[in-house]
Amino acid sequence: MYDITIIGAGPAGATLARLLGSKYKVLVLDRRELISPREGSFEKCCGGLIAPDAQRMLGKLGLGVPGEVLVGPQLFTVRTIDVQNKMERYYQRHYINIDREKFDSWLVSLIPSTVDIRCGVLFKSYEMDGRKIDISFQFDGKRYTEKTKFLVGADGANSLLRRQLTGSTFQKTYITVQEWFSVKQNQPYYSAIFDNDISDFYSWSIPKDNFLIVGAAITPKENVSRKFDLLKKRMINLGFELNESNKKNGAFLLRPQNAKQIFIGRDNVLLIGEAAGWISPTSAEGLSYAFRSAIALADSIDANSESPISEYHKNTKGLRLNIFQKNLKSPFMYNTLIRKMVMKSGLSSMSIRK
Ligand SMILES: Cc1cc2nc3c(=O)[nH]c(=O)nc-3n(C[C@H](O)[C@H](O)[C@H](O)COP(=O)(O)OP(=O)(O)OC[C@H]3O[C@@H](n4cnc5c(N)ncnc54)[C@H](O)[C@@H]3O)c2cc1C
Repeated sequence: MYDITIIGAGPAGATLARLLGSKYKVLVLDRRELISPREGSFEKCCGGLIAPDAQRMLGKLGLGVPGEVLVGPQLFTVRTIDVQNKMERYYQRHYINIDREKFDSWLVSLIPSTVDIRCGVLFKSYEMDGRKIDISFQFDGKRYTEKTKFLVGADGANSLLRRQLTGSTFQKTYITVQEWFSVKQNQPYYSAIFDNDISDFYSWSIPKDNFLIVGAAITPKENVSRKFDLLKKRMINLGFELNESNKKNGAFLLRPQNAKQIFIGRDNVLLIGEAAGWISPTSAEGLSYAFRSAIALADSIDANSESPISEYHKNTKGLRLNIFQKNLKSPFMYNTLIRKMVMKSGLSSMSIRK
């Protein structure tokens, strides 16, 4: 029997496994091939930008990002485009631009060798058996089971474990689409596009070596592909070069509107990272929250205790306050009138000399 089974080896799951792997008997399951990635295998749809908060967390974890994970260009500027207000501003912001798949594989490579990591495995369900938990998963078309004391869902925005625990989906969920275009010359900035006709959240472009990623977070009830086509049309009108499409993928994205929407689990089934709802409601930055919640749970688990839930709740007080504060800031970014006033003031913006 395992002490801890972690579903998902993304940034949250891999970090928890790294922090607890030498202390406890740990099993990690992921449907992705993160140990020996294969061409065409399932990829996490992500912008792959490490924002300052996540950089700080990597520092706290004693980590520096290896060169082979980086892609160019490194970015120091956000170009903010407000379509309805017909305004544009540049703001200074330091991002580390990465290949997200390589980043996740690197985090998995840091997990101690004592941890049992199984990739290409799909978690299916769990059942309580007294104080133990029976988990069921699928590999190569066959069903397998294991027993564990604690079960951790680090399975991202569309967490099956959260849905099985709560019986419902997250309150504010978006469908994100990202399309990769080949470009001859890339842009030296990340752009954030606010356009009420596309989304009440935002759209973006991110340069990645010889590609430009165009992405948007769109409400599922709307016609997602029509909205995404409209975004591309508007971006071409703004001068973006979107000729040769290379790939397109999508993912769910959560947006917690208040800290009460975060669900950290029940008894000895716990949730970390975006599975719990830990993500910025203003920028959709999720890496720092994945690291912070993994550390908070690692500090709460004691194999001899019945459940770490109250300790984990206590250790995530700061994260809940952070979600509350971000929601207070939200109207300054997402209310068209207030955003117009902020952008018009030019506060913290900079001019670009070419
Ligand atoms: C389009 C998009 C762009 C984004 N851009 C950024 C960005 O630039 N910077 C940033 O900080 N954040 C970004 N985010 C948010 C960020 O990607 C997430 O918040 C972050 O990855 C959450 O980490 P996690 O470990 O909780 O979950 P994930 O990274 O989603 O990892 C979950 C893992 O669980 C596995 N899994 C899921 N279900 C199962 C199952 N049933 N069985 C087995 N394995 C399973 C998955 O394969 C995956 O490896 C973006 C999100 C989206 C959707």
